[in-house]
Amino acid sequence: MVEEQLRRRGISDPRVLEAMAKVPRHLFVPANYQSAAYEDRPLPIGEGQTISQPYMVAVMTQSLGLRGEERVLEVGTGSGYQAAILAELSQKVYTIERIAALTEGSRKILGELGYSNLSYRIGDGSKGWLEEAPFDGIIVTAGAPTTPETLKSQLAEGGRLVIPTGPRHTQTLYKVTRRGGRFIEEEVTGCVFVPLVGDFGWKDE
Ligand code: SAM
Repeated sequence: MVEEQLRRRGISDPRVLEAMAKVPRHLFVPANYQSAAYEDRPLPIGEGQTISQPYMVAVMTQSLGLRGEERVLEVGTGSGYQAAILAELSQKVYTIERIAALTEGSRKILGELGYSNLSYRIGDGSKGWLEEAPFDGIIVTAGAPTTPETLKSQLAEGGRLVIPTGPRHTQTLYKVTRRGGRFIEEEVTGCVFVPLVGDFGWKDE
């Protein structure tokens, strides 16, 4: 997975490659999909949701530019796989999921794997996590119609927000960097995500 799907396609941050080689992705997918866990595609995780394709996890993580000292917010805990990668690469991860059953499952596996630098919340992550803001990195793992201003406002100076936005069935991944009073937006790649459902996302499933 790391050599063929990530390094060969341009993922070059050694810390990201190392984390993705280390975290056992098969433990984050349902039993009937474990044999497919390292394939080049997203997989169902129940509740109509998915664990993202390994390459997309790597691109999004690399875009955050983590060095190890950061406080990071993840919107869309899902299986907990992306949260584990973030926990490997930063100081503290705050992760929000709107479906309680997914939070329970991810909290269990992440606890069993020994990750202790994570806080979980069940709720609408399109509003961010105001009490813990500002964040050095924010990663949204569901597709939004537009970039929520609430999330931009919870970025620390120099912080990066990585988010897929655009129409419901196909989006563009953006990296937004806060510099002074400005937000600098860069296009990263095309992508397809399940919808961000919430006050500052899509209004229904
Ligand atoms: N990061 C996940 C992983 O590693 O498995 C993949 C997440 S999946 C592509 C997107 C997740 O976002 C789903 O679990 C979905 O329930 C969640 N989601 C959608 N809207 C949300 C919202 N407003 N707040 C929090 N989570 C949300």
